[in-house]
Amino acid sequence: MAKYVGRFAPSPTGPLHFGSLVAAVASWLDARAAGGEWHLRVEDVDETRTVPGAEDDILRTLEALGLGWDGPVVRQRERTARYAEALAALRRAGLAYRCRCSRREIADSGVHGVDGIVYPGTCRHAGIAEDVPAATRFLVPAESIAFDDRVQGRLSQRLAAEVGDFVVHRRDGLFAYQLAVVVDDADLGVTDVVRGADLLDSTPRQIALQRALAMPTPRYLHFPVATRGGEKLSKQTLSPAIDADSGASALLAALDFLGQETPGPGAPPAVLAEAARRWDPARIPRGRTREITDRHGSRYPRDL
Ligand code: GLU
Repeated sequence: MAKYVGRFAPSPTGPLHFGSLVAAVASWLDARAAGGEWHLRVEDVDETRTVPGAEDDILRTLEALGLGWDGPVVRQRERTARYAEALAALRRAGLAYRCRCSRREIADSGVHGVDGIVYPGTCRHAGIAEDVPAATRFLVPAESIAFDDRVQGRLSQRLAAEVGDFVVHRRDGLFAYQLAVVVDDADLGVTDVVRGADLLDSTPRQIALQRALAMPTPRYLHFPVATRGGEKLSKQTLSPAIDADSGASALLAALDFLGQETPGPGAPPAVLAEAARRWDPARIPRGRTREITDRHGSRYPRDL
């Protein structure tokens, strides 16, 4: 079997929050338990969302928690030439076209899908000139895309009906997350994607792009997203200065959330080493969300 290559891909939009801590811990443990590599990629392709200082903050927190990564940190802002190559390949293959529709025009078309309005394909045959400001959309395949998620089971989506041709290059010149993530995962040789179920509905789009670009499809594991009172926890942040004590309790909370047997108290590296020995993805609860209940109690960081 090919060597396991995993990754953690935080967006630098703020310090690590409980949701991204769970993603870091799950992907790190899955990689380490398999004797594999774990890469860190800063997903700043949408530079309009980058918060100054957030990247440093995330790196410092990962280090304090003992979540070490392999190789250099990958930064999407340094990789736009690769995204441009992929975009050109899609255009050459006739699998992408320029689109000048406004948000309003798309909204008026009215059909809701898994991620907003389904683009009705208005500009498919419009042949919009290269010098006109426009977005570029990927022409989605007609057939459904199915995959077997290691936690959520088999999923199938008809992109044409549920998403429509989606944007891979924005009118403002920025590349879209869906394209960047596919190119980045392929260039790193990622074999296993471990991330939150909020991205489950993006996966068929990514698989369609992988096929169009002749890139391999990794295995996927989507764990449930943490909620409290039905609300996503992602806006809440971990305490900015994580010391050994609060670090260990944050790790234990993440392990508990992932349904894992929690090791006894200890410093973060000892907790992680023991957790890697016990890592059992079959124990991760199924479902897109998981409510944090009082039963989980005081192990959750105070500010959650
Ligand atoms: N950057 C994304 C996020 O922070 C994760 C993307 C991925 O894991 O594919 O939600």
